[in-house]
Amino acid sequence: EAKLSTWARNITPSPTLAVDAKAKELKAAGEDVCGFGAGEPDFDTPEFIKEACAKALAEGKTKYAPAPGIPDLRAAIAEKYVRDNKVEGVEPSQVVVSPGGKYSCSLAIMAVVSPGDEVIIPAPFWVSYPEMVKLAGGTPKTIFAGKESEFKITPEQLREAITPKTRLVVLNSPSNPTGTVYTRDELEALTQVAIEAGIYIMSDEIYEYLLYDGVEHVSPASFSKEAADSVITVAGFSKTFSMTGWRLGTLMAPAPIAKAVASIQSQTSSNATTFAQYGALAAMQQWDKSMEAVKGMLEVFDRRRLFLLEGLNAIDGIECARAQGAFYLFPKMDAFGLSAHDFASKILEEEKVAVVPGEGFGAPGYMRLSYATSDEVIEKGLERLTRFCSKLG
Ligand code: PLP
Repeated sequence: EAKLSTWARNITPSPTLAVDAKAKELKAAGEDVCGFGAGEPDFDTPEFIKEACAKALAEGKTKYAPAPGIPDLRAAIAEKYVRDNKVEGVEPSQVVVSPGGKYSCSLAIMAVVSPGDEVIIPAPFWVSYPEMVKLAGGTPKTIFAGKESEFKITPEQLREAITPKTRLVVLNSPSNPTGTVYTRDELEALTQVAIEAGIYIMSDEIYEYLLYDGVEHVSPASFSKEAADSVITVAGFSKTFSMTGWRLGTLMAPAPIAKAVASIQSQTSSNATTFAQYGALAAMQQWDKSMEAVKGMLEVFDRRRLFLLEGLNAIDGIECARAQGAFYLFPKMDAFGLSAHDFASKILEEEKVAVVPGEGFGAPGYMRLSYATSDEVIEKGLERLTRFCSKLG
């Protein structure tokens, strides 16, 4: 028997994986599966970004880069935070480029969480946060906000969850899995609670540009100098520019934290892929072109969002909030007397529809549907979902 470490034994394998593996298996066997499981845009990376990377490759940018990222890219990201996110005086030294937003989150947690520390994670949460906290030796403490609370925790909830052991609270707006976007006032109130308690915020803003209905994205680090000193902002290129496979994430933090993060990265992953960073640099330097590409994707996402939302709410027993960010809807489906897990297994089996059950997100009674898929799949999937639910009664 393998002698596994505490970390390996403590980690929970993704509960969504079983459904996902089953869906892939069915697809490979030639079944016509309607997949709502994807956590990635179905578009290709914009051409000019790919060209910049190809050029870097052709020019031999194939060697190690500095651990925190190529200097031009760090500078461009710092500038973006000042210009676009209204964070004052961000220096390139506060920015670290890592191999993916996921790793940026992990680095942020490793930089401030010690064994025994508590990290507050609002549920529904992205599946990886609690596991990353456990890998750092910390204890995840979840607080719940369901559909009735618009999937938003209140300042009181946060205040009550803080103990002398709390080090960090995770905020993720727009959210995976709910698509919820916090308002400026809501974020300011939560940030204030964190500042008063002397805890850090990890603000995961990976979906910051995927917004609908005219809502704005607000970075907690922009509120004040005190806020900037308390917030580690994590983001990346995957979702905004359809670059999931490039593995490029960002982190922006007070300089001493960014320095610690760069040190941890230097001893674990070294740097994010050098030539990939040149593609990201083009995305940053040709910002108008980038936003034009994002706008095109958003128009498609928005149409699909509304179509899926309407279709879901037309089904008896399903209640779905009008999410205004990311590319997920997170309907409640507890009226059928089935756990989300059983609902997901059954609908995959009987109707070949893949949805992600809510349990893994800390939200039993809900399921996640991604609309980063074709109109055809959404239309067909809704028909099947409707038929399935009417059979359940
Ligand atoms: N944060 C959230 C909330 C996500 O949903 C994801 C991807 O699914 C990530 C971070 C990390 O993305 P990546 O590692 O592809 O940059």
